[in-house]
Amino acid sequence: MNSTVVITGAASGIGLSASKQFLAQGWNVMMADFNNDLGQKVYKELSEQYSPKQVAFAPCDVSNAQSVDDLAQAAHQAFDHVDSVINNAGIFVKGAVHEIDEQAWDRVMATDVKSIYLTTKAFVPEMIERKSGTIVNTSSISGLQGDYNMAVYNAAKGAVANLVRAMALDYGKYGIRVNNVNPGPTMTPMFKRNPQSVIDEFIQASPLRKLVQPEDVARTMFFLASEESAPMTGENIPVAAGFAIHSGQPV
Ligand code: NAD
Repeated sequence: MNSTVVITGAASGIGLSASKQFLAQGWNVMMADFNNDLGQKVYKELSEQYSPKQVAFAPCDVSNAQSVDDLAQAAHQAFDHVDSVINNAGIFVKGAVHEIDEQAWDRVMATDVKSIYLTTKAFVPEMIERKSGTIVNTSSISGLQGDYNMAVYNAAKGAVANLVRAMALDYGKYGIRVNNVNPGPTMTPMFKRNPQSVIDEFIQASPLRKLVQPEDVARTMFFLASEESAPMTGENIPVAAGFAIHSGQPV
């Protein structure tokens, strides 16, 4: 029987690349996204390319408990059981702490952090019962270091960077592995909307003089979800073209 993965934020960027990566590897993929129109569109394309039995889509707001429970129900209707959850949906707003309004702060924390609590409550009980499963959370290099003007994103992704250790410790005895991928600046459609001058500045700031592609992160997500990473749990894995390694001292 094929393995099944649930991927949140699957309609765009890294989540869409991850959906394609898992499908290409023969997994069943339950795609979930807030953006129903885009989600239905990419789902249609992928179900034509692969078997409609191999892929499904559910509209889902990962910050809402009922919506995540509905996602779990949709996943079980489409597929027998869930082997892996990729917590990829995430948002950010700019600003120093005092500049961020309360609603925006709550929205980022709910989308980037509380979502992991909700999907874990929805999917971990069956993994515990089956004594196997993998969870891949999406933190960021911004969860390992500070950025200017990204305070709530630093707080949220930093929470995810440590939450992975708690989850790995608590669920290890059930054969469930939990790891994070920590992307650096990644050429998603959203990032590409920056002016070319800004993109060039980012490229120059990378020791490799290049940016991460969504496919690079997707391959790492697949690695962490699959048996290929069998001895790994509780880790933060930067995929960052060298962005995470510099102390900040001038050249
Ligand atoms: P993206 O905006 O291209 O895709 C994110 C998807 O998540 C979108 O389809 C959006 O509709 C969906 N989404 C947003 N809020 C949601 C919600 N409440 N419920 C369900 N779906 C929701 O972004 P991306 O660049 O592909 O980012 C994916 C993940 O990678 C995020 O967690 C992001 O923080 C992280 N990340 C991205 C970068 C980067 O440079 N692109 C760097 C580090 C980390």
